[in-house]
Amino acid sequence: MKDKNVLIIGGGVAGLSAAVELADLDVQVELIEKSNFLGGHAIGYACKAINDTCVKCGACMVEERLQRAVSHPNIKILPGSQVQNIFKNHRFSASLRQEPLHIDSKKCTNCGLCLDRCPADGAVLQGFSKNNIPFYAISEEKCLYLKDKSCSICRDECPETAIDLDNEEFEHSIEADAVLIATGFKPFDPKDKPYGFGLFKNVVTGLDLERMIKRTGCVKKPSDNKTPGLIAFIQCVGSRDSKLNHLWCSKVCCSSALRTSRLIRERHPETEITFFYMDVQTFGKDFEPFYEETQKEIRMIRAIPGDIYETDGQHLKVNYIDNHSHKTLEEIFDLVVLSIGITPCEDIQTISGLLGIEPDDTGFVKTDDKKTSAFVNGIFAAGTVQGPMSIADTIASAGSAAWKIARYLGLKIS
Ligand SMILES: Cc1cc2nc3c(=O)[nH]c(=O)nc-3n(C[C@H](O)[C@H](O)[C@H](O)COP(=O)(O)OP(=O)(O)OC[C@H]3O[C@@H](n4cnc5c(N)ncnc54)[C@H](O)[C@@H]3O)c2cc1C
Repeated sequence: MKDKNVLIIGGGVAGLSAAVELADLDVQVELIEKSNFLGGHAIGYACKAINDTCVKCGACMVEERLQRAVSHPNIKILPGSQVQNIFKNHRFSASLRQEPLHIDSKKCTNCGLCLDRCPADGAVLQGFSKNNIPFYAISEEKCLYLKDKSCSICRDECPETAIDLDNEEFEHSIEADAVLIATGFKPFDPKDKPYGFGLFKNVVTGLDLERMIKRTGCVKKPSDNKTPGLIAFIQCVGSRDSKLNHLWCSKVCCSSALRTSRLIRERHPETEITFFYMDVQTFGKDFEPFYEETQKEIRMIRAIPGDIYETDGQHLKVNYIDNHSHKTLEEIFDLVVLSIGITPCEDIQTISGLLGIEPDDTGFVKTDDKKTSAFVNGIFAAGTVQGPMSIADTIASAGSAAWKIARYLGLKIS
């Protein structure tokens, strides 16, 4: 079926999984990803195995899908790209804009000299997986050469002459028989809550923590790079919140934060962890025994803190109402982790507008393909663009979308 093409928008685990499934059926896939690196949010998550025993966090599945996608001959990957326009006649015709790719993936050997030598903070970006080739990218905003041509050290010193700082953005046009929307989610911005995020260095999000553990293998306080003695996790930040009109549960935060807590206790046994929660959502039959074990190690408090103050630049005072005495209590922590929730993808209005579909009242894309005519016209969706789901559920949703697309394309599947 080499004459059939599918355009996939979004290179997170949903887009990668669907791409691999379709490519295995001999469909040609064009996978466009707006950032420099594939893998979406989940490529930044650390494996949470405890004493080398898998706890089914799903992080390794993302790496595996990424590896298969980048090496598949039927998948063409376009990083740094976004759809500018798309219309359907007999097939879909899309025009794309691709940011300049300053590092040539065919020449780059991932030696890292560009990052080591760059004098500007954040100008050389680093991916989370060596399966992203290249593993580095140049930031359009931070690079001094791209600002005012005042520095070209990375280009001048690259031993492979892989860096070109003068290349320009690219326009592509693509014809496709079907389109899959896999643009994922936007993490809730905790600046809207009274927890001092962005003001106090030692208030971080669950995503920050995941990335810190993935990059360094351990947990440090951002204020002084020391191991925190007392950590608080605050659940449901941006989820199940009527004031924000976010009534949904983000489904993944409890299990993710509890697994991370256990991992921290394994890596830093001296660290004490307190878990503030509304009620613990543990999905799946395997999670219950894990949760029972976890409660022996983690202090669980059924309350959601009202606010947080910084005491001396190093410590954080957390206020909450005690469930039993109904008194306001205060406790001091070294690090507070906000378990931010899943909210609709920031580009979904634009993409929906281009494709002539409508997100539902919550802002996620409608998934009922029987009732929504758009979805029987060759437009499909997979993953968290449809609503909160785990990595495993995202992969299942991508598999299901791939099979629907194959049927739509008239493929004979044995
Ligand atoms: C704090 C936190 C912790 C979590 N921990 C776990 C865990 O431990 N285990 C678990 O199973 N799940 C976890 N999850 C859920 C997990 O992150 C998701 O299941 C997974 O990331 C969904 O993948 P996706 O491809 O649907 O979306 P994303 O990961 O959001 O990927 C979407 C991709 O689309 C790209 N994109 C967006 N817009 C465009 C556009 N206009 N054009 C082109 N590309 C675009 C994005 O750049 C991104 O690469 C966690 C979630 C959160 C918030």
